[in-house]
Amino acid sequence: MSDTLMHATVDFDQPGKQQGHLAVPYSHNLGGWANLQIPVTVLVNGEGPTVLLLAGNHGDEYPGQIAILKLGRELEASQIRGRLIMIPILNPPASRAGTRLSPLDGQNLNRSFPGKAEGSVSDKIAHYLTNVLFPMSEYVIDLHTGGRSTDFYPCAHMHLVPDREQRRRMVAGTLAYNTDLAFLYADIAGTGLLPVEAENQGKVVITTEMGGAESLPARLNRLSQEGLRNVLIHTGVLEGDFKTREDLGLPPTRWVQSLDRDDYRFAPESGIYESLVDLGDEVEDGQAVGQIHFLERPDREPVPIVALRAGILLGDRGPSVCSQGDCVAVIAHDVDPSILE
Ligand SMILES: [Zn+2]
Repeated sequence: MSDTLMHATVDFDQPGKQQGHLAVPYSHNLGGWANLQIPVTVLVNGEGPTVLLLAGNHGDEYPGQIAILKLGRELEASQIRGRLIMIPILNPPASRAGTRLSPLDGQNLNRSFPGKAEGSVSDKIAHYLTNVLFPMSEYVIDLHTGGRSTDFYPCAHMHLVPDREQRRRMVAGTLAYNTDLAFLYADIAGTGLLPVEAENQGKVVITTEMGGAESLPARLNRLSQEGLRNVLIHTGVLEGDFKTREDLGLPPTRWVQSLDRDDYRFAPESGIYESLVDLGDEVEDGQAVGQIHFLERPDREPVPIVALRAGILLGDRGPSVCSQGDCVAVIAHDVDPSILE
């Protein structure tokens, strides 16, 4: 067990449905003995897996938060086999502010793992997940989008974990989302990710990148919600009919990967980014996928951002304004199927 300073108002072992919160102690100028309250719903009913369902790790990524808020209202314990723990908004201050980072400590929660019991608010949340919630879970589902900075072709995604049995189970869980694309990604922007901590504990980790930028059309919310229900049925925690893509009249999921640093294209200069390729479109080796214009230099030719290898455009810059070093494009390539077995 852990030395966490956090406190849950729900009992994770109590049969039935409970809604409460996780309290994170912190002080602010008008609240000396305040706590941040993270909403949690727990459904417990007999034998079955424990599934931990998370969204709002990054505040500005809303389809997963909406999907879990809805499930938290709709589901009853009688529909569950085992235990379903739902945290729709892991990072409420960031969600309220529409930001990726916590306004309370400036941290990226998804770079704060394994966390610290007595660290910042983000450190405390990460520590609680690492030491209390992950150990009791068989599945950890963490729902993302590209946030405001990046628009992703909507996909479920995963790391290529070294343990082949864990990998096989993660592949099956990822496919259960029934997205057009499933994506193998690399950590090109630091360590301390939530999924990596859960993977290191041997969990079956299922994650998404459901679009992003500021525009979140209805179809994205539908895909987030319908895919998530199917994933929960796949784990065995939720009753219902499991659907494959074939059942839905869709072609098989296409697996793509961006495992090399060169697959992630960064702005060499600050400026205004123009996308030249639509998300999901095929690109040639050396093709410009976008270009950067210069607000203060109308005489300058725009600087092209090129794909260094042929593939498809999986991620595209969200806001037009970009700063030097921002990731403006992600190019993905087809996967050798043998690595998924
Ligand atoms: Zn995210």
